[in-house]
Amino acid sequence: MSNQELFDEACQYIPGGVNSPVRAFQSVESAPVFVKSAKGSRVLDEENHEYIDYICSWGPLILGHNHPVIQQAIIEASQYGSSFGLPTKIEVEMAKLVVESYEGIDMVRMVNSGTEATMSALRVARGYTKRNKIIKFEGNYHGHSDGLLVKAGSGAMTFQTPTSLGIPEETVSQTIVCVYNDLTSVKKAIEQYPEDIAAIILEPIAANMGIIQADEEFLKGLRQLCDEYHIVLIFDEVITGFRVDYHSCPKFLGVVPDMVCFGKIIGGGLPVGAYGGKKEIMELVSPSGPIYQAGTLSGNPLAMRVGYAQLTYLKDHPEVYQHITSSAQYLAKGIEKILNELHLPFQVHQVGSLLTLFFTAQDVHQYTDVQTCDTHLYTIFFKEMLKQGILIAPSQFEAWFISDSHTKQDLDDTLIAIHQALVKVYDA
Ligand code: PMP
Repeated sequence: MSNQELFDEACQYIPGGVNSPVRAFQSVESAPVFVKSAKGSRVLDEENHEYIDYICSWGPLILGHNHPVIQQAIIEASQYGSSFGLPTKIEVEMAKLVVESYEGIDMVRMVNSGTEATMSALRVARGYTKRNKIIKFEGNYHGHSDGLLVKAGSGAMTFQTPTSLGIPEETVSQTIVCVYNDLTSVKKAIEQYPEDIAAIILEPIAANMGIIQADEEFLKGLRQLCDEYHIVLIFDEVITGFRVDYHSCPKFLGVVPDMVCFGKIIGGGLPVGAYGGKKEIMELVSPSGPIYQAGTLSGNPLAMRVGYAQLTYLKDHPEVYQHITSSAQYLAKGIEKILNELHLPFQVHQVGSLLTLFFTAQDVHQYTDVQTCDTHLYTIFFKEMLKQGILIAPSQFEAWFISDSHTKQDLDDTLIAIHQALVKVYDA
């Protein structure tokens, strides 16, 4: 069956034909790619087209598709059984590994997705501070729990539903939305509610409105404000965790939060999330404390073994970070050169192994800048890339993920395709 035929059938049984919105390729007027298999930097679709993949499962596959270490871990893990609902040794080893990697956290609780991680971390921060309000930032995405789907990035932004229907007024009334990289907007909110704000949650490197790194001054300012007003600072590192550095954002950016949320990479491609924090906060979580949070499949033994295999591989191979970062830099430089040659005024942002090409002439610093992007031009670009066998995010407002499996040849082939695609954009 072709991708289009599969999609038509899928639409009869699954809303929009997909189990998560961005997969639909709706924003780029294309049938989605139905994946048959994948290996290294490549995915193969049901029509037997091969693509160099920069989606990489939206982040978990830092080593690339079906990496031998991960494949082996899956095979081995399956020999012991798939789920027990009882504690296992690997959960203890995993928790220790994650805690030891991250400055300022003493304990961690495993969950099954990034959404669960942020939702639970906020509940804990509210229970700890006995306050209700939270601050989030325009264009940051923290999963789809009710209180966080306000001016959200990612698919919510792509499909122009940054604030979802179906969420009670009272729930979102506890969410204050501030402007990313603008400390004044945060100060104003805190001055208005000095005793009521439980937590500030942010992506320290925003990846869900395209890649925008938080300014140093902004991050340090947030840290200071949180200390002064006893607010819990939460880093949502679902994308950046173990990606920008084995020790994540505290090491990469030099600011340490009170709590952290993980997802993606810590599961090695299996469904895992986690949240962690200082002991005095985390000890309030049930059963050691009165804040309830639970999960039948949390700490699932298959997911833990696979996640553990990926994290220990990263710990033992720091050269992975050098490789993926230099690959992304090489791509970014190559794109900038092409943009100059074609006199196109677009912006390239690259942080570590994450990259976005913004189709706007404006400097991109926050959500309103991102909204100046020409999504019509992005669509032309995306389609041309796909035609040439390069799979990038089907949305302007997402990152490209570079894995350890992307070779120099892949990058050079990608740059040739980008050149052709940008010529199409230029001619449009
Ligand atoms: N936080 C961030 C920063 C994310 O990028 C995402 C998903 N892309 C989430 C939370 C939600 O994670 P999940 O999709 O696993 O629920």
